[in-house]
Amino acid sequence: MEEKLPEDLANLSQLDEQSLLEVLTGRFTRNLIYTYIGDILVAINPFKYLSIYEKEVSQYKCHEKKSLPPHIFAVADRAYQSMLGRLATGPKNQCIVISGESGAGKTESTKLLLRHIMELCKANSQLEQQILQVNPLLEAFGNAQTVMNDNSSRFGKYIQLRFQNSSVKGAKINEYLLEKSRVVHQDEGEQNFHIFYFMFAGISTEDKEIYGLLDPKRYRYLNGRFGKEDMVQAWCLKYAEVCNAMDMVGFEEQEKVDMMTILAGILSLGNIAFETTDTDALKVSEASRGWLKATAGQFGVQEEDLLKSLTCTTSVTRGEAIQRLHNQQQAEDARDSIAKVAYGRVFGWIVSKVNELLAPKVDCDVELNEIGILDIFGFENFAVNRFEQLCINLANEQLQYFFNHHIFLMEQKEYKEEGITWETITYKDNKPILDLFLTKPIGILSLLDEQSAFPQATDRDFVDKLNSKFKTAPNFEVVRNHTPLFTIVHYAGKVQYNASGFLEKNRDTIPANIRKLFIDSVTPLLSVLFAATISRTGTLMPRKAKLQVADDNFNSTRKQSVGAQFKRSLAVLMEKMFAAGPHFVRCIKPNQSKQPDQLDSKLVMDQMRYNGLMETIRIRRDGFSWRPKFREFAERFVCSCMSILNSTELSGWKCGSSRLFFKYWHQEELARLLERLGRAALVIQKNYRTRIC
Ligand code: ATP
Ligand code: MG
Repeated sequence: MEEKLPEDLANLSQLDEQSLLEVLTGRFTRNLIYTYIGDILVAINPFKYLSIYEKEVSQYKCHEKKSLPPHIFAVADRAYQSMLGRLATGPKNQCIVISGESGAGKTESTKLLLRHIMELCKANSQLEQQILQVNPLLEAFGNAQTVMNDNSSRFGKYIQLRFQNSSVKGAKINEYLLEKSRVVHQDEGEQNFHIFYFMFAGISTEDKEIYGLLDPKRYRYLNGRFGKEDMVQAWCLKYAEVCNAMDMVGFEEQEKVDMMTILAGILSLGNIAFETTDTDALKVSEASRGWLKATAGQFGVQEEDLLKSLTCTTSVTRGEAIQRLHNQQQAEDARDSIAKVAYGRVFGWIVSKVNELLAPKVDCDVELNEIGILDIFGFENFAVNRFEQLCINLANEQLQYFFNHHIFLMEQKEYKEEGITWETITYKDNKPILDLFLTKPIGILSLLDEQSAFPQATDRDFVDKLNSKFKTAPNFEVVRNHTPLFTIVHYAGKVQYNASGFLEKNRDTIPANIRKLFIDSVTPLLSVLFAATISRTGTLMPRKAKLQVADDNFNSTRKQSVGAQFKRSLAVLMEKMFAAGPHFVRCIKPNQSKQPDQLDSKLVMDQMRYNGLMETIRIRRDGFSWRPKFREFAERFVCSCMSILNSTELSGWKCGSSRLFFKYWHQEELARLLERLGRAALVIQKNYRTRIC
């Protein structure tokens, strides 16, 4: 059995897709969801609770890889030990990259990693609890039920845990691209963000009256639907959990009340309908006058002002205010964009508030090291793919590139430079796809910005531009049709995009009158959210302050497009990640129906292929993932590197012109050896340092 179902795929004697699939299937049916490929962890979503996260907590601490079965806690342990410099030389900062398609288990893995790292560093209980409570809070506001996943993350996040030596001092979260459009529209079989349902299920009848919440089935933004009794009970518990999380993290009572009132306002707003009068003027339909009044009350604004911002746009040209009346469609669009921007602001505010509360409280000259965990939305390919999917899939391309770069490119480049005999392993390089998106001045995002700058340009014009620029590009396909469609051949498959709404979503501007409406609000939180901007440290700053947020900047002349902001935040993230020691978790979804104990071979095979699992196994089996410079190695392992190596029973390592080449397991064996050398080693190391200084 052991022989046939190895814990490490790099030990597979026969390497072909079929045997690989057999091993993964065999392990999965025995509830062995974790498997290594050298230092990379493959995790198959079990879609059921497994009792492998209890006693394991105490086992995976400074453990040796071979001594325990593969586990997500082992990744946490390895990242933590690496940050402390106990395992290898190399950067102190670490990043754990979790990838996989929607529903593959990235967010659950993130939570397990966080939990175990907190355990490893024996965090002080208040800070630990605060850090762990961030997740239920963010999930309530940023996750939703989709066709792919009942708890799908509709935003990306990079959680950075900050340490002083071995103890955690704080955390910071970067969030990416909340799918705001979900607030106003959900496709068939999908829901709005969880918080709306939790709120209806959990708020007392008296409080509902205070917030002005009616029967949830009356709200258009909830598609006129609510859950069955058992669902409602579960949501009620979730609401209590969110309230508890807010208390733990340190939200004030008034802030919570304001937040719920704004959410109630968003729902009432969605019910406002418009109609044209006999004289062709636009007015709020008779039936929705009550909703207009309710919204104004919940947003703390004047009814007249709200009506004006829905029915006309005011622009200021050379100091003169010009009013343009909306038609019905424009009024509906204005209504939906107010809802989206208000929700987006609340979410951004929660994240900045969390960052403020969890910011490390240490002197600024104290050196902090980091472990970052990246959990972004998985690759998406729906019946209709919009601007959101384009950004999500671009982020996944970037991650795949990061993986390829570390696992294949850098490694093989060094073999060549150092004169190591090596038979090149080819892999699917996705650099051309990244270039197609990001190249200046003619990448997809630049062309989108160019078109977004023309007020008269249409989505169709944008697709025409793409078609003429990229018709011969290998990863682009022209769709010959009247609707604005185009296809991109991603590393994970072909995706057809519908460009309707691309320009508008990319511009994401808020008319000045809507901003003013909210600034004048008597609801303190709303007024602050729109009058202030959120600094990078998460503190709310007055507008006059120079620091500006990357997202949602109001000044339309200086405002960066959504695409450009996203491109920039991806670049910043990549810079951070390239400078850190990487750890990879590759999540695999076993079936589309979210069922336990079912593995669809074709689905798993597809993921194995686009993840490049075969090539990864080959390089981990034949390659050398640990490549210290002579000096780094000597410094760590005390005496002359050759004599130490010759004195151990290590085999299979190689010597290049300036560095050594080790298999991933050598690192642990040498670390163990170092432990054994114990204090003697430290003395010698000290002497050695004195000598070389
Ligand atoms: P998305 O990209 O849509 O956010 P995801 O990769 O983050 O997807 P998760 O939300 O982590 O997916 O997982 C989907 C569901 O699968 C979870 O809600 C949970 O029910 C189940 N699941 C995932 N991992 C595990 C696990 N280790 N043990 C038990 N159930 C799990
Ligand atoms: Mg998720």
